[in-house]
Amino acid sequence: MKLYSTRNKEEKVDFRTAVMRGLAPDGGLYMPESLPLMPLSFWQALRERSITSKARIVFDLLLADDFTDAERDEIAGRAFTFDAPLVSLDERTHILELFHGPTLAFKDFGARTMAAMMSVFARKEGETITIVTATSGDTGAAVAQGFHNAPGVEVYVLYPSGQVSPLQEKQFTTLGGNITALEVDGTFDDCQRLVKACFADERICNARQLTTANSINIARLLPQMIYYIHAVAGMLPEGKSVSAQGEMTRPVVCSVPSGNFGNLTAGLLAHRMGLPVSRFIAATNVNHVVPDYLSDGNFHPKSSLRTISNAMDVGNPSNFDRMLDLYGNDHQAMARDILGAWFDDRQTRQAITEVWEQYGYLMDPHTAVGYLGCREHTADNEQGLILATAHPAKFPETITSLLPDALVTPGQLLQVAAGKKQSIPVEASLDAVRDVLLEN
Ligand SMILES: *Cc1c(COP(=O)(O)O)cnc(C)c1O
Repeated sequence: MKLYSTRNKEEKVDFRTAVMRGLAPDGGLYMPESLPLMPLSFWQALRERSITSKARIVFDLLLADDFTDAERDEIAGRAFTFDAPLVSLDERTHILELFHGPTLAFKDFGARTMAAMMSVFARKEGETITIVTATSGDTGAAVAQGFHNAPGVEVYVLYPSGQVSPLQEKQFTTLGGNITALEVDGTFDDCQRLVKACFADERICNARQLTTANSINIARLLPQMIYYIHAVAGMLPEGKSVSAQGEMTRPVVCSVPSGNFGNLTAGLLAHRMGLPVSRFIAATNVNHVVPDYLSDGNFHPKSSLRTISNAMDVGNPSNFDRMLDLYGNDHQAMARDILGAWFDDRQTRQAITEVWEQYGYLMDPHTAVGYLGCREHTADNEQGLILATAHPAKFPETITSLLPDALVTPGQLLQVAAGKKQSIPVEASLDAVRDVLLEN
């Protein structure tokens, strides 16, 4: 696969370069130069396959030049180790549960794929790759769990001491092995600044092959296409009930709870490959700059507001440039495929309670935003597919305040909570971080 930067389409790089760089040197985001357009019969043939097998097929289509057959097999097998089940509330409301991985959120798919790919690069090049990443909570957990025991990769997670929830902290401080947590005496902004400083530091860069694992990396985006394919292929009717025009009996509308819009962008890429989705709903909380753009064509980044769906508290979404690029900056074209919708915390809480009372199904606050988008903007002749991005047990305060008896904590979380925290305390200075990186 060849990729270009959203800021310069002329300069192409290969997949490995795009993955190792994360961001293009001109500050743009990497986009695939082309995607194969697949016919309906292709998607139908995937219907009964496992998610791992679907992942393998998608990697074969997109990354045949970048990894050998055996490597693609290895990546699919290491990353897609848990299922994404589809739960139907009624015949037009389907929930795709993306939270059965180690950190109980959809980011596990991207993080694990990226880790598997980097292990392959490290082995081929006979060199250890070092990931340095800053986290305010969730990203660090997904990255640490995804890279845990990945051969040839060492991970340093910088996090602000006392400013992440105890459970989140446990998710990246209890693993040990190739995962080192640096507990920074400072803020999340300090952590981000220190990560940047590491990349600019000659001594560190001479000693280690550094890379980031941030969410804009193409290796995290591409695998997110696979669960859309998994779900939609599973919803396709058998061959004969598809009409001559290739229309499905009931068009599928995907409602995606969004923050940085990586998840939605992955869906748009799958759509470009011909996946039969009729449109997307970009569902947000009160941080609604993208729904605003979709309605009036004006994009005004803002500072973010705090909500109960906090992983979506983003005022300047990092993948918006990719969305613009996909539609050639044509607002009308984008607005034909994507409808924006936003909801406040009161509506989100109400949806959690209502769905529990009506269907006995418990949603986390992010999923609830996606549910609201689906409920308000899907017609009777359509089927809504809601992406459930996190397990409700990750948000115990919100859930138990609404429904004291509904929550069942999954085993993964109990295990993490029982683990012993191991971190290296450092002051918020490059010297302190460098010492750790050069000593280990
Ligand atoms: C990251 C996250 C989101 C937002 O996903 P984007 O790809 O940034 O739009 C939604 N829900 C949960 C639970 C998340 O962790």
